[in-house]
Parts: sequence; structure tokens; C-alpha cells
Amino acid sequence: MEAQEKIITGVCETHGEYESKAQEIMGRTFATGCPECEAEREAKQKADDEKRLRAARERRVEELAHGALIPKRFQGYGFDDYQPANDKAAKIKAACQRYAERFEDRLQMGGGLVLCGKPGTGKTHLACAIANHVMREFFRVPLFTSVTKMSRAVKATYTPKSDRTEAQVIRSFVEPDLLILDEVGAQRGTETELLLAQEIIDERYQEVRPTILISNLPESELGRYIGDRAIDRMYEGGGAILAFDWDSYRRSGQSRRFEQPDALDVPRREAGFLKGGK
Ligand SMILES: [Zn+2]
Repeated sequence: MEAQEKIITGVCETHGEYESKAQEIMGRTFATGCPECEAEREAKQKADDEKRLRAARERRVEELAHGALIPKRFQGYGFDDYQPANDKAAKIKAACQRYAERFEDRLQMGGGLVLCGKPGTGKTHLACAIANHVMREFFRVPLFTSVTKMSRAVKATYTPKSDRTEAQVIRSFVEPDLLILDEVGAQRGTETELLLAQEIIDERYQEVRPTILISNLPESELGRYIGDRAIDRMYEGGGAILAFDWDSYRRSGQSRRFEQPDALDVPRREAGFLKGGK
């Protein structure tokens, strides 16, 4: 037997009168409540859920960032923080951004990046922006390291006190979704160091995990240093070599500070203030 539904007028202390659907079921009346109160409750519930989700995301990103060992000065840095010094730098920035945005494709197809060229042109900054992006957007695990640090970590396993085996340490460099290998070719690496770097690059390639190499060497010398095979591994699956071959922004940034205020495009009345005068 269908219960009869009727419309009655309810009164909400906050919102006043409203239409309520009432049904009598087994001698009791069930009436719908104030629709505005209901909407407010739903909105609050939704906001609370979103807040919880955001907090959980933040915690996860913090966790990832903690393990990523990104240099302190680039922690949390994004692409917006990179000011391209020229058109070439702007193109390279755009390429790095595309790489980060399509990182999930890289995990399917492979393809690393080689950021090489002059110091102070923002290679580390852009590599870290990629790492920060894949953490934040895809919850992927990046790891920032250098050939020297990897070699030191492996050597540390040779002491009897070590609680990790050499194989475990090597896995720790193979397993992250993105490995950023800094200072490639910074000093004459020992043959052991080079072999280790090559082994890790190769294993990552086999497991379709992208690697980013950062080097102050020009592209031509980098192959001679780390091996052409390792460089080829970067290209395969859609990787690229990006040459940062302009002069340092850091150096030009510093020299600017010593220029006369007039040269800074500052209106004259403010230039006096910069000089320390009245
Ligand atoms: Zn109400």
C-alpha cells in the first residue's frame, strides 16, 4: 500500500517557511526538512571532503619531497619561478614544461633529458621544476643525486657496519620514477664512478624509468665523458638534449647590481633614492 504524500508548510528558524513533502507511514509523519539547510549541509560536507583530500595530497607531496633530496634552494620551485634570459631559454623552459606535463607518457615510452651547457643558466632549476611538477601533479617519485653521491652511497656499503647491500643501493637509484643526475662530468670521474652511472642509466632504461642528466659540459664532450651509449639511452623513447649555451644569468644578474641606477630603467627621482641620496 502506497503511503499518501502531501505538501505541508514547514518553518525553518533560519530560512523561514518552506514546502515540505510529508508522508504518513505506520502512524508516523515523515516530512522533508528545510531544503536550504540541506543544501548548506551538503556544501559543508563537500568542502570538508575537499579540504581533507587537499590535506592528504599535501602530506603525500611533502612525503615525496622529503625523499626526493631536491637541493634546498629549488625546493618547491616551479616553472613560473624561472625567468628565461633570452628566446632560447624560453624555448628550453617550454620544452621542460611539456616534458613534465607529459611525464606519464615518458613512463610508458621512456625518454630522458640531457640538460647541458654553461653554469648558471638554470639547468638545475628547470630539472627541479620538472621534479616538483611530477610530484605535485602525478604523485611520482623523483630523486635528485649526482654521480659522486651515488658512488659514495655504494662505497658506504663496503663497510661492515653498513645495513644495506650494494645491490640495494643500486636499486634505490633505479626505482624512483625520475632520477636527476647532477654534475655529470663536473670532475674527472673514476672509471668505477662512470661504470656505476652507466649501469644505473642502463637499468633505468631497461625498466622504462626516465633519467635527467645535468652537465656543464657541452653536448659533444658529454658523450665522451659518460659514453655515447648512455647518451643514446636518453634519446630513445622520445628524449631530448637541451643545450643551455648562453651566458650565465647569475653573472649578468650580479654585474647589474654594480651598474649606475640610471641604467636600471628607474625614473630619475627614484634613482636618487637608490644612490642613497635625497
Ligand atoms: Zn533552513
